[in-house]
Amino acid sequence: MSALLQVRGLTRRFGGNLAVDGIDFDVRAGELLALIGPNGAGKSTTFNMINGQLGATSGSVRFKGQEILGLPSHKVARLGVGRSFQIAATFASLTVLQNVQMALIASQRRVFSYFSRADDYAPEQAIALLEQVGMAQQAGQPCADLAYGDVKRLELAMSLAGDPQLLLMDEPTAGMAPGERNALVSLVKRIVRERNMGVLFTEHSMDVVFDHADRIIVLARGRLIAEGGAAEIRSHPEVRQVYFGSDAGLDYENSPGVDDDGL
Ligand code: ADP
Ligand code: MG
Repeated sequence: MSALLQVRGLTRRFGGNLAVDGIDFDVRAGELLALIGPNGAGKSTTFNMINGQLGATSGSVRFKGQEILGLPSHKVARLGVGRSFQIAATFASLTVLQNVQMALIASQRRVFSYFSRADDYAPEQAIALLEQVGMAQQAGQPCADLAYGDVKRLELAMSLAGDPQLLLMDEPTAGMAPGERNALVSLVKRIVRERNMGVLFTEHSMDVVFDHADRIIVLARGRLIAEGGAAEIRSHPEVRQVYFGSDAGLDYENSPGVDDDGL
């Protein structure tokens, strides 16, 4: 697998706080890569620097060989780096299909005046996206009526509207029950394989990470301390130390001292 994204020496300082401290990693086409680490480790800061929402202090981020650090986020998106979508409250009254149509309009750079014609816009393409996430049956339902797990699947369909080759998902399962988390990440993995795209994601549940991620990288206090498969990460002494301050088994759900936002 070739590297889609190459992150080198990526650093972000907030005043005296080195939030991300010279990290190096690759994301390959066709892989689901998990970025884990305790609260405040620098995961969101890393995502935001890659997607162009936040400037970096130093470093390099290459997407398909091209330096993207310093580009505005819409340019990064246009090159093929998508990020998880959050349905704005104002769109809750639209149907599932209309929301996907809006995402298609946005990704194809139509201006907002096209809003009134969203109904006519690329319905086949919108249905195809809904089919990929198993939501075609709900196409005519208002978003406001959806169960939370279905909202998350719809958001996934919307994040695919721009046909990204790399998708950045910071806590895509936030607020979901454990079973639903599993289902969503498993769906993401299927799509990764189908599209041969790369996905970098953060996830609180260690069980979900160990079950689905192809590879895992671990951030602690801004530094990458481990990289590997589930077995390596599970038994990595420094990872255990960071999460539990001991050599206790890495079983997140039953761990004391780690709140729900712990990873
Ligand atoms: P994570 O997503 O792993 O929980 P963050 O990337 O949100 O961690 O935060 C990493 C560190 O950077 C934390 O110490 C946090 O307080 C700090 N930080 C994040 N964003 C800002 C900001 N906009 N201004 C100042 N400090 C920030
Ligand atoms: Mg975060």
